[in-house]
Amino acid sequence: MISDDPRIKEAYLYECLDNDDVQCNTCRRQCVLRKNQEGFCKTRKNIDGKLYTLSYGDVSSYSVNPVEKKPAYHFFPGQMAFTIGSWGCNFPCDWCQNFDISKRPPPENYAFSSILDPEKVIECMKTNSIIEGISFSFNEPTLSLEFSIDVMQQLDSSYFKQYVTNGYMTKDALTMLIDSGLNSMTVSFKGSKDVMDQHLQINSDYIWENIKYASEKEVHIELVYLVIPTLNDEVEQIEEFIKRIKNELSPSIPVHFTGYSPAYLYSIPKTPTYTLQKVHSLAKKLGLEYVYIGNIPGHPLQSTYCSKCSELIYRRDQFTITYTNITKEYKCPNCDQEIFIYPYRPQKYYKE
Ligand code: SF4
Repeated sequence: MISDDPRIKEAYLYECLDNDDVQCNTCRRQCVLRKNQEGFCKTRKNIDGKLYTLSYGDVSSYSVNPVEKKPAYHFFPGQMAFTIGSWGCNFPCDWCQNFDISKRPPPENYAFSSILDPEKVIECMKTNSIIEGISFSFNEPTLSLEFSIDVMQQLDSSYFKQYVTNGYMTKDALTMLIDSGLNSMTVSFKGSKDVMDQHLQINSDYIWENIKYASEKEVHIELVYLVIPTLNDEVEQIEEFIKRIKNELSPSIPVHFTGYSPAYLYSIPKTPTYTLQKVHSLAKKLGLEYVYIGNIPGHPLQSTYCSKCSELIYRRDQFTITYTNITKEYKCPNCDQEIFIYPYRPQKYYKE
């Protein structure tokens, strides 16, 4: 018997197996669920041989803030996003910086959430003229696949559509998102391959495959690496990450090395600023063009500099752009170098 709770809705991507088992094809865990079982993320459940999401329109919070907060520094700089999140996660990070929502899957969160439908989201967006797009963020948005697809399909193409994600959705889910208008992904890494695969019980190669695929489909990509002392801050680990970006993607992809703070089960002291500065120097030395450090308010390495002559292009104070210095053709006014800013992208952004 299915409840009439609007948060419980048949999932878009699953397969029926023998004996009323189902396989969820939303994220790469691809959980196989027996009758009445929930998946790893607890947002999906096998009810009488069909797969249901338990968190359709189940909103933890929404707010209006600049794309810089995602972070996305090279995607319509300064524009404002209606940002919306739900609950739960498909990664079990012991250091989660958003554990108050990610570790509270349905129905535990039901007492704290608002229920929105896609029409209400679009109505909210249209009543505020400063909003230029939507960002699905806060918790892992792949778990809101059905809701985010319904919103994006109803939202006209003048609005940008963004995911702030761990990138671990299936290729089918990613294709559905791109076909529904997704044009930006900020993908957050938790470390090198060994750290991610061991601590999160995943195969992180799938994330790289997804980024490459989305990039080929002209989705704007920015990458985040959360630098956690003693876990993933060794030079070799950072080098491996940087080399994969250069070899498998493009040195023009903006990369944000962000500082961790003690949270959830982790009490290791926060990432020192000098560690982030050292990582920044290493990434620049190895050839990445746009490198930032994050979670250090007011730091000059949150500004954008020309990749050729280091001219200041955008100065940022926290998430606000306080100075702009770029030509109409998105070139550096000092040396004429093309600056990679979506929707303008130099040809070399695409790897042959
Ligand atoms: S979304 Fe991922 S973790 Fe959740 S049930 Fe589906 S496959 Fe499992």
